Amino acid sequence: MKAAILETRGKDGLRIGDFDDPTPAPGEAVMKVRAGGINRIDLYMRDVGKGITHELPIILGVDGAGKIAEAPKGSPLKVGDPVLLYPMAFCGRCPACNRGDQPNCVKFDIAGETRHGAFAEYIAMPEKCFLPKPENISWEAAATMPVAYLTAWRMMFGKVPLEPAETVLIMGVGGGVSSACLQMAVMIGAKAIVTSSTQDKLTWAKEMGACHGINYRNEKVAKRVMEITAGQGVDMVIDNVGEASWGDSLRALRSGGRLVTCGATTGSHPSADIQRMFARQLAVYGSTLGGIEEFRALIDVVARGKIIPTIDQVFALDDIASGFDKMEQGEHQGKLVVRVGD
Ligand SMILES: [Zn+2]
Repeated sequence: MKAAILETRGKDGLRIGDFDDPTPAPGEAVMKVRAGGINRIDLYMRDVGKGITHELPIILGVDGAGKIAEAPKGSPLKVGDPVLLYPMAFCGRCPACNRGDQPNCVKFDIAGETRHGAFAEYIAMPEKCFLPKPENISWEAAATMPVAYLTAWRMMFGKVPLEPAETVLIMGVGGGVSSACLQMAVMIGAKAIVTSSTQDKLTWAKEMGACHGINYRNEKVAKRVMEITAGQGVDMVIDNVGEASWGDSLRALRSGGRLVTCGATTGSHPSADIQRMFARQLAVYGSTLGGIEEFRALIDVVARGKIIPTIDQVFALDDIASGFDKMEQGEHQGKLVVRVGD
């Protein structure tokens, strides 16, 4: 089958070529991939990969949507079912799995990180990792749900849930997770303030429902947030930018507010500002992916048309390198997607 295979670390190590078709283990189903979302983690795998147990060569791609091509005997899945990939093969037996918190499973594998991913014509995963695709959206839109949208869902509603009467500050709104968070805030009727480096992205975010846009290149973010909120600060901050925005994120919070992060694009070691954290009783939550029930809840709101994933550009599998380049440049608005089969 055709696949995007990481053979050696770095840009030149990613090859589009032939790879053996997957052989499903007992309890696994095979999906014929139609599309896969590109995520920051793909760049990290390509260029660094540190801290993620895997061997090269590996097929990249954490996100995917497609049709069931092969299902284990007795499975509720049927050949031809349109499905989304839940990218984490979880154990299903540990305390975290038992309480429905699969991302904290003690023994897991992740597609495109520790086992072969979805940038290929076929992928095998445990049958419990395939959930029904909403009928009302394209394959490309569906392919963005398992990582960016599910991650956003847990950040917004899986910690201390954002309430309709609250205000959230979303840093770097152009990114896939950040723009998904904006859509979720708008969905429940909460106020969203967003930041970006360009007027274009701020205009785009306002069209999606953001109340205020702050250009962090020429405005002081925390100061501007205080003006907008009459000196109170926001209830919640979504910050996947990391080192560059962390100080502003903490300064923009009201007393008792919370910051949620799922990424650190600009670096992992900002000043912690501990005094501000205890004096103002701030909470910081780390978040990654979401659980199966959270995924079902997300699929339900998408199926009801309350959120439609936003796509910046679709690339052919042969041209996946251009998609990675665009992700690296950070000029996108919404998700970048790879179209795999037809
Ligand atoms: Zn588990």
